[in-house]
Amino acid sequence: MELFRQLPGVDTLLEHPRLEGYPRSLVTRAARQVLNELRARIRGGMEELPDVPGEIAERVEALRALRLRRVINATGIVLHTNLGRAPLAPEAAAAVAAVAAGYSNCELELSSGKRGGRLRGIRAPLQQLLECEDAIAVNNNAAGVMLALAVVGSGGEVIVSRGELVEIGGSFRVPEIMALSGARLVEVGTTNRTRAEDYQSAIGPETRALLRVHPSNFRISGFTERPSTQVLAALGPPLIEDLGSGALFADLGDEPVVGDVLAAGADLVCFSGDKLLGGPQAGIIAGRQDLVQACRRHPLYRALRLDKLVMAALEATLKLVLEGDPDRIPTLRMLRREPDPVPLLLALGDLPVTLEDDVGFSGGGALPMHPLPGKVVVVRGPDPGALAAALRAHDPPIVARVSDDSVRLDPRTLLPGEEEVVASALHAVLGTR
Ligand SMILES: *Cc1c(COP(=O)(O)O)cnc(C)c1O
Repeated sequence: MELFRQLPGVDTLLEHPRLEGYPRSLVTRAARQVLNELRARIRGGMEELPDVPGEIAERVEALRALRLRRVINATGIVLHTNLGRAPLAPEAAAAVAAVAAGYSNCELELSSGKRGGRLRGIRAPLQQLLECEDAIAVNNNAAGVMLALAVVGSGGEVIVSRGELVEIGGSFRVPEIMALSGARLVEVGTTNRTRAEDYQSAIGPETRALLRVHPSNFRISGFTERPSTQVLAALGPPLIEDLGSGALFADLGDEPVVGDVLAAGADLVCFSGDKLLGGPQAGIIAGRQDLVQACRRHPLYRALRLDKLVMAALEATLKLVLEGDPDRIPTLRMLRREPDPVPLLLALGDLPVTLEDDVGFSGGGALPMHPLPGKVVVVRGPDPGALAAALRAHDPPIVARVSDDSVRLDPRTLLPGEEEVVASALHAVLGTR
């Protein structure tokens, strides 16, 4: 009971020098929590009070710290889902900043002073890039596919090959999205081989669409068959293709090129904004104008629409692509160029590291069979796990690849200027500076 009496009151704690300079409302909140916990611990038999102001200060620090922070990606995995997929181009980040802290003409036509559609800034570049009739964007590709299916397939049947009933990371599963959309899934063919006749014989009065899904994160190889977009488009019902990665150029492994798929006759395509396009999280729906506009008018669109920050980033990214230099988009640069390890090596100076051949990956469920060879900086040591953890504890945190005997830093995914940060972190962790 003595300990209960020793507990300081909230008012006393608010005046404690250790808690000076913190917002009072946060100190009050944290102090109440800590005092409640201490009372429980005293009842549970605690023998001695801990440093109470210290515990409160820790709690306040934890409450104030932002959990979502910038980190440095030294893994060589370009679209690392755990690290937020695509880093934005500086131009796209600047476009976000320009509209973030003030008002914007999000839905205002400045020439007429009247209300204008919020999609105008992205529709025109998409029409140019994809040579499509129309295009809109929503929160992510999962949302885009669900919306397209709800618009085209709801209340009827949508035919899908058994080889394309896939799961993409983060629990996007084709049968479940289909069920949510209100369309009935009709499976045809087999896991490895599905022919045009399989689709053909499943088409009936209830058929609303054919759906093709890109097997983003795996490949079926060997005895396989899959009809082309052209053949499926000729069968009659609208053809929707979920392309996932959204490659706009033909130089990224075996990823289907969005414009080619539309030219081959797909009525609607859906793809991600933050995979091979290298923009913000978004889902783009492009294709036939009547279908795109039906998506735009569907009540679900309102629930899935983009906010102005994403819109700004997407518009700026599309304009960079349109300007024709993909190297200005970090994701595309990292995927297309063999990284130069020299700036990192120079920054590391006399640290005991070696340069070794290794491979990076696209990640993000794209290009699974397309390793990206390059040189990585290798730090060997008795406890690579502990070294990697120390790098993650750095500010900003650095995420590296860990193998049995080493930590591997891949320059492929470092952004300009990050070499210096990695070097000073490594020196600090290894105690060499
Ligand atoms: C990635 C992917 C999705 C999901 O896209 P998000 O942008 O993550 O919502 C859906 N379908 C395919 C084929 C994909 O590759």
